[in-house]
Amino acid sequence: MATDTSLAYQHLHELLQQMADAENMLAHGPRRIAAAEKKIAAAEQECVAQKEQIQKLKRATDEASLNLKTREAAVQKHKLRLNEAGSNKEYAIIQGQINTETLACAELEDEVLAMLADVDAAETVLTELQQAVADLKQKLAEIKAEVAEREPGLNADVARLNDEIKAAEKVIPPGEAMGAYKRLKASEGATAMAKVEDAYCTECNTLSTSQDVVRLNLGEFVQCRACGRIQYTVASEAD
Ligand SMILES: [Zn+2]
Repeated sequence: MATDTSLAYQHLHELLQQMADAENMLAHGPRRIAAAEKKIAAAEQECVAQKEQIQKLKRATDEASLNLKTREAAVQKHKLRLNEAGSNKEYAIIQGQINTETLACAELEDEVLAMLADVDAAETVLTELQQAVADLKQKLAEIKAEVAEREPGLNADVARLNDEIKAAEKVIPPGEAMGAYKRLKASEGATAMAKVEDAYCTECNTLSTSQDVVRLNLGEFVQCRACGRIQYTVASEAD
């Protein structure tokens, strides 16, 4: 039979584990929110970069369009000169210039059309990116609502567990033992305690001395000689 004290140690350990779970879940909410906010910031940054890209494309397109207009005007000017040509030779030279300029205009026109298509494509990408930001913001709102909904319950759990742990800690002898327990609990949380199974510490797997096994069976305050955790055993219950 496990002693009442052994069972009290086990109960305290279980409460400390429940507290660790509750605190973990409480911390999980803000971590989820922070992760979602980070995603939004990254997506918004992508939108800014895409807008800059569009501005750059538009400026280049405007420049190319202006260049095209200038060259088209030049062709018109040459055509007027054609009528005033004084000789066949002069006529041929002007016609050659017109042909060259017309070819250049056609190439430039293709270029402008391709650039306008690029602007369209970039704007489509921007729309998609903006939709992604909107979706992420919606998701964040859902996460926030979920976290807010769970928080009161978790806080209530923590408060209840605090009270229960306080009561359960009465199993620890006052003085030196209590001091050791408090220090371990502050640094290790639920793993301040370790169950001993078949004379082995379940935290560090060290075999207990036969003297410690006797003390554990009596429900005395025992710390693992290897890892220092507060030990208890209820294994004899199943025997
Ligand atoms: Zn140990």
